Amino acid sequence: MLPFTRVAIIGMGLIGSSLARGVRSHMPTVRLTVADADPAVRARVAALDIADDVADGAGAAVVDADLVILCVPVGAMAAVAAEIAGELSPGAIVSDVGSVKGAVLAVLSAALPGVAVIPAHPVAGTEKSGPDAGFASLFENRWCIITPPEGADAGAVARLSAFWTRLGARVETMDAAHHDRVLAVTSHLPHLIAYSIVGTASDLEAVTRSEVIKYSAGGFRDFTRIAASDPVMWRDVFLGNREAVLELLGRFTEDLVALQRAIRWGDGDTLEALFTRTRDIRRSIIDEGQDTDTPDFGRPH
Ligand code: NAP
Repeated sequence: MLPFTRVAIIGMGLIGSSLARGVRSHMPTVRLTVADADPAVRARVAALDIADDVADGAGAAVVDADLVILCVPVGAMAAVAAEIAGELSPGAIVSDVGSVKGAVLAVLSAALPGVAVIPAHPVAGTEKSGPDAGFASLFENRWCIITPPEGADAGAVARLSAFWTRLGARVETMDAAHHDRVLAVTSHLPHLIAYSIVGTASDLEAVTRSEVIKYSAGGFRDFTRIAASDPVMWRDVFLGNREAVLELLGRFTEDLVALQRAIRWGDGDTLEALFTRTRDIRRSIIDEGQDTDTPDFGRPH
């Protein structure tokens, strides 16, 4: 039996449009209504034919949905919650896909008192944005972390888990604060480092910008993929997960200074020991099926 029969998705960018495509292919009898603030996105979604109805506003999209999923940037969650607050069906579950969970849970619970709010975060994505960037298999074999608030209805959590499992995801449950600490390590700090290093390289004076681009295969270009991610989405992630990111950044800065010292003092043992440990982490990610084992991410040579 399907966990939900009428689903509304608000925000039809990379993640929202991937969800719509996933619902179409894995739960074709679900009635899917979507909305987006941008009229050009709404027109494109209608042309792509990836939903049953494209509503003009979030309020109109959710009226008879039994599951509503907010797929907008973290900073836009409060505005969307206010728009749908008076329109939800009794018993509807409201979830989201935001990359930060503590801040989103707080704004959704405040705006939607008495509503079953069960936040979630599919740990899957690319550096692209918009409805053309989405694809149905995005969530397959990727983790979706569900962060139910204390006292959440177990039946509602089970239905949301079943929904993500049907999309091919592996589901894990944890509290929002723990999610935010874990994702600060695995996602937020790496993005911050990539944004910073690409910014530094483009500001250098002794090395020209064209040299940076020409010789980027030395490693730099792998950072540029991450640093090409959506600016609005990532602005909101850092503002929304401020404490966990700042705490981790303090630790990272200390470790970087330790490496600086090892290089200055010619301490090759320290460098080699670290680089051996990090290579093992890469092996574990491949063993877990979370990345390809082909050299250089499978780029043609
Ligand atoms: P995206 O491609 O930029 O799409 C977001 C869409 O939401 C845009 O079409 C945007 O329209 C629309 N929107 C913004 N404010 C709105 C509002 N108030 N009402 C209705 N629609 C609104 O972003 P995305 O990458 O799909 O990210 C969406 C969410 O998924 C974010 O919370 C992000 O943290 C999370 N997430 C992203 C990834 C990833 O890799 N990208 C992975 C996991 C989770 P405008 O362009 O007009 O603003």
